[in-house]
Amino acid sequence: MLLDEQGVVRQVNPDFERHAGFPPGQLLGRRAVTLDIDPLHGDFPKAIEQSMTTQKPWKGLLLCRRADGSLRHQTTLIQPLVRDRAPIRLLVIQFDVTGMRQRAFYDRQLLERLDGTVSRVPGVLFRLRQDSDGRLEFLYVSAALRSLFGLTPEQCQEDPETLLGCLPVDDRQRLETCLAQSTVSFTPWQLEFRLTLPQGVRWVEARATPLARGDGDLMWDGLLIDVDERKQVEHRVQRLVATDMLTGALNRRAFFEQGEAALARAARHGETLSLAMLDIDYFKNLNDTYGHALGDLALQAFATTCRESLRPYDLFARIGGEEFAVVLVDSQPEEAWSMLERVREAVAAITLETGNERVRFTVSLGLAVFGGDTSLETGLAQADRALYRAKRAGRNRICGPETLVQAPEAQ
Ligand code: GH3
Ligand code: MG
Ligand code: MG
Repeated sequence: MLLDEQGVVRQVNPDFERHAGFPPGQLLGRRAVTLDIDPLHGDFPKAIEQSMTTQKPWKGLLLCRRADGSLRHQTTLIQPLVRDRAPIRLLVIQFDVTGMRQRAFYDRQLLERLDGTVSRVPGVLFRLRQDSDGRLEFLYVSAALRSLFGLTPEQCQEDPETLLGCLPVDDRQRLETCLAQSTVSFTPWQLEFRLTLPQGVRWVEARATPLARGDGDLMWDGLLIDVDERKQVEHRVQRLVATDMLTGALNRRAFFEQGEAALARAARHGETLSLAMLDIDYFKNLNDTYGHALGDLALQAFATTCRESLRPYDLFARIGGEEFAVVLVDSQPEEAWSMLERVREAVAAITLETGNERVRFTVSLGLAVFGGDTSLETGLAQADRALYRAKRAGRNRICGPETLVQAPEAQ
């Protein structure tokens, strides 16, 4: 539009008329400010006034009304055209940005809604990026990192070690393996790991899906959730499932599971494994004389004494009524022998009181030392044979593999 010094429309192009929703020629002779939603106090009259007096261009956003009454956002440029002695004219150019503004408005609304949703998710959302050199970076970490784990999301985005540094070495390795596999297979991953935090160790579950990206980069969108409570319950259940109720020793099933693992470890390191079978002597007599309840107490006292004489990482299991087995981890046969001798002596020293009687009992032990490709069953059978010999030789003693038997037994 071209306006005169009164702000009256003198010329207008068809595009402008269409924009403003007026039939051809209808805008001519009108005051341009009538396009403003507020022709008296709106921004358009002010802009025209300013441009007219300063003779400088004005640029801004105006809220205008079309002929049909609808509102439009118009980016507006008012350019004064000054020529010698000629009366001033104002050139007005408008660009309708209503659609764009609406989209931006909806986008902002959507983002605000998403932000609210994300902040209420009971987990940490993250986007992790790995560059072609394998370096990791958190592009995004949601605010729940603070409320759930007491770590700062911004700090984590600056330095991934804020979070990754809390993983114990083992767990960090498992995470790296997981990421490496996901990088190759381009498949989602899931991992449970621990975080060592100032307030203690927490178990966390992470799940993430890889996103394609060019130039050797890879990204994952994922979620971290606190699974500490679930893990505690799982551990309790695992312990219950693995232990014998009466004595707290490992049960037969757990012994075979963990024994196989210990055997595989020993085989990998080219070491032998020391395995002993323990059987309480004349236990039937003890039951018959003093009752089953005292027998139970004897089993409990026996298990406690054995555990006290062994090391926490040795496997101690009840594999039958009054039969127990021990795997001595990382021990030379001689060490194993002396440890078992301590067990034997400690058991013989147990004193149970019933009425005014003091009850004592003893244990016989059979030791097997094996490794390589000998199975746990074969090892147990060897130990059982040694135990049989110990019983035959008079009980309350250890028998072991022929090579070992002589020296200690001769004492
Ligand atoms: P040996 O010296 O040859 O080993 O003789 P023993 O009497 O210990 O052996 P035997 O195998 O004849 O007896 C084992 C007894 O253990 C029989 C059984 O009643 C008893 N027993 C098995 N389980 C339990 C238990 O849970 N509680 C009690 N009180 N007794 C048990
Ligand atoms: Mg027995
Ligand atoms: Mg017995």
